[in-house]
Amino acid sequence: MAVRTQEDLATLSELDEKSLLESLSNRFQQNHIYTYIGDILVAINPFKYLPLYEKTVSEKYKCHEKGDLPPHIFAVANRAYQSMLGRLATGPRNQCIVISGESGAGKTESTKLLLRQIMELCKANSQLEQQILQVNPLLEAFGNAQTVMNDNSSRFGKYIQLRFQNSSVKSAKINEYLLEKSRVVHQDEGERNFHIFYCMLAGISAEDKEMYGLLDPDVYRYINGKYGSPEMVNKWSTKYNEVCNAMDMVGFEEQEQVDMKTILAGILSLGNIKFEPQETGILKATEQSNGWLKAAAGQFGVQEEELVKCLVCTTSVTRGESIKRNHSQQQAEDARDSIAKVAYGRVFGWIVSKINELLAPNVDLNEEHQEIGILDIFGFENFAVNRYEQLCINLANEQLQYFFNHHIFLMEQKEYKEEGITWETITFKDNKPILDLFLAKPFGIFSLLDEQSAFPKATDTNFVDKLNSNFKGKPHFEIVRSHNPMFTVVHYAGKVQYNASGFLEKNRDTIPANIRGLFINSVTPLLSVLFAATISRTGTLMPQHRAKLSQAVEDNFNSTRKQSVGAQFKHSLAVLMEKMFAANPHFIRCIKPNASKQPDLLDSKVVMDQLRYNGLLETIRIRRDGFSWRPSFEEFAQRYRILLIKPDIPLNKERSQKVNSTPDTVLETDLQGIMQSCLCILNNTDLKDWKCGSTRFFFKYWHQEQLAKCIDRL
Ligand code: ATP
Ligand code: MG
Repeated sequence: MAVRTQEDLATLSELDEKSLLESLSNRFQQNHIYTYIGDILVAINPFKYLPLYEKTVSEKYKCHEKGDLPPHIFAVANRAYQSMLGRLATGPRNQCIVISGESGAGKTESTKLLLRQIMELCKANSQLEQQILQVNPLLEAFGNAQTVMNDNSSRFGKYIQLRFQNSSVKSAKINEYLLEKSRVVHQDEGERNFHIFYCMLAGISAEDKEMYGLLDPDVYRYINGKYGSPEMVNKWSTKYNEVCNAMDMVGFEEQEQVDMKTILAGILSLGNIKFEPQETGILKATEQSNGWLKAAAGQFGVQEEELVKCLVCTTSVTRGESIKRNHSQQQAEDARDSIAKVAYGRVFGWIVSKINELLAPNVDLNEEHQEIGILDIFGFENFAVNRYEQLCINLANEQLQYFFNHHIFLMEQKEYKEEGITWETITFKDNKPILDLFLAKPFGIFSLLDEQSAFPKATDTNFVDKLNSNFKGKPHFEIVRSHNPMFTVVHYAGKVQYNASGFLEKNRDTIPANIRGLFINSVTPLLSVLFAATISRTGTLMPQHRAKLSQAVEDNFNSTRKQSVGAQFKHSLAVLMEKMFAANPHFIRCIKPNASKQPDLLDSKVVMDQLRYNGLLETIRIRRDGFSWRPSFEEFAQRYRILLIKPDIPLNKERSQKVNSTPDTVLETDLQGIMQSCLCILNNTDLKDWKCGSTRFFFKYWHQEQLAKCIDRL
């Protein structure tokens, strides 16, 4: 096979960390950011424009074979598409492309490129394909933000499912995971709020600004002191126009768009409300922030007094009796922030469900279809302060690493053993114990967190105490001596120290019932819709939801205890994994070349760390020595019987006679017979280095393409 050595690391015979780093580094210096490890693509973020994605390049990769052209992300798109059509692989027709790497490594950019190329491959230039590509600016504006690790960091995870019938895309669905809502009300040093706030403030016309009651950016506490240079303002302004266009295109009605912007303005005003005690001791908005209170109430379309009530006290009904509890200063501020977070979270969920309505015109899921899923989640994070969000994000990354290990090392080597193939076991860093630390029941981090969250009186310190007593001495857990509630997890990608302050509250994510009641009665139609139904659960919001308002209110109050954020996240990860395990995976490992987002700079230590924790050295070894394609005799015979019954392929005498008489009976039903037929097929090809087990064959990843060529030659 004509793969140039440096382009496929699995062909390197000399292999150690140093030579691996050297190969990648040399290639990077020549702007070759893509490298294969067999069928796995390694992509190093160039942090600069490279002329790699032009129309001509895309055309070239549409009908190429691996080895004919340099490694490229478009080749992965092609491979997934061809496999989905059944042209390449046996095995499941549904495909999933798993993109991993730490924050800023280039996952989201890779996702966009894959989507673009897959749309190109479908050829037909339908409206749906255009729409699939155009929803992205919208998702990024609302779901991405600048962090210290990445200027355009995804603050939510997404799994995009493209559904195909007869080789063309028929619908798409975006599954979103765990938006980091806390960013709306707080950002650490060097970080920003979600892009949309800056874009709106920079791009809105003077007239609209007045209509929405928006003031200059630097007055808002939720984004205070974090506005940008004139160039950035220009960029945001352009982006704002893009977002507005995308909203039109997605089919947001004029009124919905107005409502949405009004809610965003309301969130900003809300953030500026401060509290002080009255003579009665009950809190009120300070004199200076009274204007903000009025503005927020106006923007949210609710009565000012009603909004104040939600902020300064909680009313609950117990046995028919209404009990009012006044808030402390802290509780009032928490209530204010939780209103902002929940309002933003619901707007985001609503946008995603609108997009999904648009991208799934009249789909009938009962009709046979194939899927390509692309997973782009938030990368592994290790900040100065790591909170609940990082815990969830890093769990998701552990899960992905496990998925990778499982496919690349576990399943493969288990089969060698079962099938009697001679094989020297390749060891790898199994992260199952870390996953267990998180997910075990009843003594995993998330179960213990749920247990503590269920006690109204429990504190974050109680939770950490529980962790310390349960996990003391465990290899992936470290106790932290501090007066803050802290603990350390030794992740596959390194040690992360978590500060558990706020864990219980974030895990419970309770919205005070009063807030729901307040917003349901809002005169801003969108706001009342957002709180009338749980969009995240129903997926879409139909007009009839409006009519069911009162029913929904009742349901909301009567509903059984809401699942914790952790439990929901765990569940959605499990569902995702199930989908992925049932599909044929393609892996893209994104690597960040340096921590300062610089072009043309490859920091050996930064890269080496990633190569190590990704297990790339072991991956190369298994791809070099191993057999990544392992069809059963039946699968193989079914797929390649055409090579057997074709008359111009010489078969041994006995078989030939059988073929000539009754071709359909050639594939014997008994295993031995089928194996013999398969061996006939194989003996008539120039395939080398494959092995035969007791029920299946073991092929190198490039054999699939060689066999496809044999078929083409017929
Ligand atoms: P996170 O986990 O924080 O969402 P990520 O892995 O999705 O991170 P990206 O947002 O895809 O990272 O990439 C970070 C930045 O790196 C991009 O905004 C872009 O500037 C640059 N970048 C990534 N890939 C490429 C590429 N192929 N060509 C040029 N620049 C790139
Ligand atoms: Mg991203």
